[in-house]
Amino acid sequence: MLQQVNGHGSGSAAHGGESLREDLQEFLGGEAPLQQLDDLTKVNPVTLETVLRCLQARYMADTFYTNAGCTLVAMNPFKPVPQLYSPELMQEYHAASQPQTLKPHIFTVGEQTYRNVKSLMEPVNQSVVVSGESGAGKTWTSRCLMKFYAVVAASPTSWESHKVAQRIEQRILNSNPVMEAFGNACTLRNNNSSRFGKFIQLQLNGAQQMTGAAVQTYLLEKTRVACQAPSERNFHIFYQIYKGAHAEERVRWCLPEGATFSWLPHPERTLEEDCFEVTREAMLHLGIDAPTQNNIFQALAGLLHLGNTRFVDSGNEAQPCPLVDDAQCSVGTSALLLGLPEDHLLETLQIRTIRAGRGQQVFRKPCSRAECDTRRDCLAKLVYARLFDWLVSVINSSICAAPNSWTTFIGLLDVYGFESFPNNSLEQLCINYANEKLQQHFVAHYLRAQQEEYAVEGLEWSFVSYQDNQPCLDLIEGSPVSICSLINEECRLNRPSSAAQLQTRIESALTGRPCLGRDRLSPEPSFIVLHYAGPVRYRTAGLVEKNKDPVPPELTRLLQQSQDPLLKVLFPADPKEKSQEEPSGQNRAPVLTVVSKFKASLEQLLQVLHGTTPHYIRCIKPNSQAQAQIFHREEVLSQLEACGLVETIHISAAGFPIRVSHRSFVERYKLLRRLRPATTLGGHGLCPDGGRSERPPCTEPATLRGLLQEILHALPAPLHCGRTK
Ligand code: ATP
Ligand code: MG
Repeated sequence: MLQQVNGHGSGSAAHGGESLREDLQEFLGGEAPLQQLDDLTKVNPVTLETVLRCLQARYMADTFYTNAGCTLVAMNPFKPVPQLYSPELMQEYHAASQPQTLKPHIFTVGEQTYRNVKSLMEPVNQSVVVSGESGAGKTWTSRCLMKFYAVVAASPTSWESHKVAQRIEQRILNSNPVMEAFGNACTLRNNNSSRFGKFIQLQLNGAQQMTGAAVQTYLLEKTRVACQAPSERNFHIFYQIYKGAHAEERVRWCLPEGATFSWLPHPERTLEEDCFEVTREAMLHLGIDAPTQNNIFQALAGLLHLGNTRFVDSGNEAQPCPLVDDAQCSVGTSALLLGLPEDHLLETLQIRTIRAGRGQQVFRKPCSRAECDTRRDCLAKLVYARLFDWLVSVINSSICAAPNSWTTFIGLLDVYGFESFPNNSLEQLCINYANEKLQQHFVAHYLRAQQEEYAVEGLEWSFVSYQDNQPCLDLIEGSPVSICSLINEECRLNRPSSAAQLQTRIESALTGRPCLGRDRLSPEPSFIVLHYAGPVRYRTAGLVEKNKDPVPPELTRLLQQSQDPLLKVLFPADPKEKSQEEPSGQNRAPVLTVVSKFKASLEQLLQVLHGTTPHYIRCIKPNSQAQAQIFHREEVLSQLEACGLVETIHISAAGFPIRVSHRSFVERYKLLRRLRPATTLGGHGLCPDGGRSERPPCTEPATLRGLLQEILHALPAPLHCGRTK
C-alpha cells in the first residue's frame, strides 16, 4: 500500500508508540535541520539550490549517503571512513528488519537487492547501476558492495562447503586488484581511474549463497599503452613491475633500476596503486601461477622497450626509415622479451606489404616515419588489448559458478560517467552514448514501474513529464541515418579525406535534428550533440580512423610467429591464413567497427539490465582536488544537473515516496485506534483501518495538525529517545 506521508522510524512493533511519536514530531516540527534530511524529496521546495544546500550540510557533517527518491546519492568522502564499511555495520544492515529505515547507505541498496532476489515468489534478478563522473567513487562503491555480498551471501553449512565458499568469494574479490592493475591508470581527475566499463554478475544459488560470478568489460582505453596525456600515466601494472620487480626479475625482464621509458611517464609519483605484491598475490588466488605471471610481466616489459623504439626520416621514399641511434638496443630487447626475431619485428614496423592489381602482385612499401610510429603503437595496443581480454577470460573461468549451481544474480555496473573535454573524439562519443542509454533505461524503468504501481493501487496520478532523451539517441544510433551510421559508412567507403566528407554528410543529413548543434566559432570541423547531461562538441577529424581501428595484418602475423608461450596463446596461428600480404581496397574483408562492436555490447548489456530490477547509485565528487571536507558548490551543481537528479527528486516527490505494506501500516498506526474512536480519526482523513473506511478527504490541514498535536500529547512518555542508527 502506498502512503503519501513521510513516515520514517524504527518500524519495530514493540516501539509503535515511539515511532508514531517520531512521525508526528517530524510532521509537526516544521523544517528539520538540513543535515538530518535523509531523503532529498523532503527538502522544501525541491530546487537545485535546496538540494545543494542539503547535500552540503550533510557532507560537512560527515554524512555521505542521502536518498533521492529511488536513487541513492553517494558523496565521495575523500578520506578513510573505516567505520562506515565495517563488517559489523554490514551485519547490522543485513540483520535489520527494515534496512530502509536505517541511515541511507550503499548497504541498504545491497541488502534490498539481496532480499528482493530472496523474497519474491519468482526470483527476479537485480542490478545496481553505479554512475558518476571520474573520481566520484563508482569503483569504490562497487568494491564495497562486492564485499558486502561476500559477507552476507556466504552462509555455508559444512566445513568443506565453507572452504569452497571462502575460495569463491575470495577469488571474486581478488578479481578487483587484478583488473584495476591492468585496466586503471592515474589521470588528471582520478589517481585510480578505471579505463574500461565493467559489469559483474554475482551468481546466487537457491539458498542465496554466492556460487560464482561473471565479468563483462567494455571498451578498454587501449590507446593509453602508447600515448598518455600530459600529466597522466600509463596503466598501473607497468609501474608496478617497474618499481616492484625483484633484482633477479629486473635482469630477466631487462628493467634495470633507473631505466627510462617513454611510455612510463611520471614513475616518480608514489601511489598506493603501485603495489606489485597485491597484484601478484591476487593473481595467484585466481589461479594464475608464477610462471604464467612471469610471461605476462615479461611481455609488458617488452612493450616498454618497444615504446623506446624511435625512427628518423630516411629522406628517400624508397628507403625504410632508420632507427634513431639508441633505439637499436630497444628494438632488440623488445623482440627478445616478446619472443620475436629482431629483424622481423623491425621490418614489420618499417615496411608495409600490399597486394594489388589483377595478378594480385605483392608490393613492399617503406613506411614514412609517422607510419612507423603508428605501426609500433598499434602493435603495443594489440598485445595489451588481447592480454587484457585474456586476463578477463582467465578471471571468468576462475570465478564462474559450476553449471546449474546458480539460479539468480545481482549485477553491478561500474561504467565511465559522462565526459566533456575541450577536445572530444570517438571515445567520448561512445562513453556519452552509453550514458544516454543508461539514462533512458533509468527514466523509462522508473517512471513506468512507478506509474504501473499507481494504476494497480488505483491511486489518482497525473503523469509527470520528464526529459525524454530518445531524440538524442536517435541522433546517435537511430536508423536509417545517424551519427554512428554515417561514421560507419565513411569507414566502409574507405576514402581519403574522410573527416571532411563526414562533416559534410553530418551537416546535410542530420541538420535540423533537435539534438544536433554546430559551433560556428570552432576553428575545426566539429558538431555538437545536446546530451541530456549537457552539450558536447566532438571533433570530426580522427573519428573515422579511430572507428576503423585498423590493424595491419602483418602485425598480427608477426605476433602469431612469436616463440613466447603467452603470445602463442594470445595470437594463435590461424590455420586458414593464406594471404601473406595486406589486401588492397576492395579485397579487404568488412571489418566490424569500434562503434558497431560497442553498440552491440551495449545492447546486450541493456537486455540483461531489462531483465533485472534496477537500483541506482549516483556518486558525486565534492571537489576536484580529491580533498576531504571541501564542498565546491559549482562542481557539485554541474554533476547534479548532469545526472538529472533534481528531475528525479521532483518525480519522486510528486509521487508517493513511501511504500508501506498494508500489514506494516496497520502494525505501525494501530495505536491510533486506541487513542481515538476510529470514526473521529476517519473524519480527519486518517485511515487507521488501512484506508478501507469511507471517509471525506483530508482538506483541512490546520484541523489535522490540531488533531495530531493532541495525539502526540496523549502518547505515553518515551522510554528512550532517538532513532535506530
Ligand atoms: P573513474 O570513473 O575515474 O574510474 P570512479 O568513480 O571509479 O572514477 P573511484 O576510483 O571509485 O572513482 O574513487 C576515486 C577515489 O576516491 C578513490 O581512489 C578513493 O581514494 C576515494 N573514494 C571514493 N569513494 C570513497 C569512500 N566511500 N570512502 C573513502 N574514499 C573514497
Ligand atoms: Mg572507476
